[in-house]
Amino acid sequence: MNIAAIPQTDPRAGYLAQKTEIDAAIARVLAGGQYILGPEVEAFEAAFAAWLGVGHAVGVGHGTDAIELALRACRIGRGDLVFTVSHTAVATIAAIERAGAVPILVDVEPGALTMDPAALEAALRTPPRKGRPAAVLPVHLYGQPADLTPLAKLARAYGLRLIEDCAQSHGALYRDRMTGTFGDLACFSFYPTKNLGALGDAGMVATGDAALAAALRELREYGWRERAVSAVVGINSRLDPLQAAILAVKLPLLAADNARRQEIATAYDRGLAGVPLSLPYRRVGATHVFHQYVVRSRLRDELRERLSRAGIGTGIHYPVPVHLQPAYRERALAAGALKVTTEAAREILSLPIYPQLGDQAVARVVTAVCAAASGR
Ligand SMILES: *Cc1c(COP(=O)(O)O)cnc(C)c1O
Repeated sequence: MNIAAIPQTDPRAGYLAQKTEIDAAIARVLAGGQYILGPEVEAFEAAFAAWLGVGHAVGVGHGTDAIELALRACRIGRGDLVFTVSHTAVATIAAIERAGAVPILVDVEPGALTMDPAALEAALRTPPRKGRPAAVLPVHLYGQPADLTPLAKLARAYGLRLIEDCAQSHGALYRDRMTGTFGDLACFSFYPTKNLGALGDAGMVATGDAALAAALRELREYGWRERAVSAVVGINSRLDPLQAAILAVKLPLLAADNARRQEIATAYDRGLAGVPLSLPYRRVGATHVFHQYVVRSRLRDELRERLSRAGIGTGIHYPVPVHLQPAYRERALAAGALKVTTEAAREILSLPIYPQLGDQAVARVVTAVCAAASGR
């Protein structure tokens, strides 16, 4: 018998789960005739702001632009220092550089693999580069909140902006409060595989500050305050109304989707207990939404190969820390040796996780990982 392979992620399954409603939303936008911004974008911005519990949400082209524009709205640019991590999607660092700022990459905590407050403090005390320290930009990696209390405290003590990278943490809580409500601004991606995913590129910046929101609305459309007259220099990064309409259909399902991800994570935790692997850390006082379920093994590459032969798709998020990638490694962006980051990159493995992954598939993954990790 030929058993179907299990992919690591499956955004198409998310589409098929709501196909009728999504197809109707797309047809409505096409028939409506407004193809740039307009009511669909405004409706989703309002729904997203209400869901998050912040005053303002501004739709942009994708998560990378969300970060660039958040920095620019704070007038952070040329030569300014933005403190973030190397253990993240390259998008985080690319966006900081697009804004003209200098990313300073600090190490992550050994368990959660999110920004280490002690490493941040050391980098703030003696920045490895010249420039004006301007912002702290933690990433809530894999759906797990970074340790926001000490990070926010440090940002305040040094007079810096706090900007959250929430690209992987839609709905994650830190001390019962939604990630994305702690910083001056929060940046979301709706890349198709994210916990809330569009069917193409899309992103959002959320903020409680009306002036920052107004600046973002200008910056995403050439700096226009009045149509076709640029008050400031901006870019073109508008949320597509088709994607806004699709996201408006998917947003009400996010809580259930996150609950299913957590259920799968718990099943993996149980099924893999006792297997020679490190299982994901869960921060006390926080709610992890498992954008990824990441195990660690010294024998990661062999494990991955065995799982691949068993028809189990896996991923590595991310294989090379940004400060060691060819485009970045000559530029001395790292604050120190980033030992935890470098070790993690060699050992991490992301198992299949997405809301439509069924119980039988989860059981098959558990069986295959148990066998692969014990060398069978
Ligand atoms: C996906 C992602 C981004 C970028 O989002 P895009 O929409 O792909 O531009 C930024 N940061 C992190 C941590 C991400 O996972």
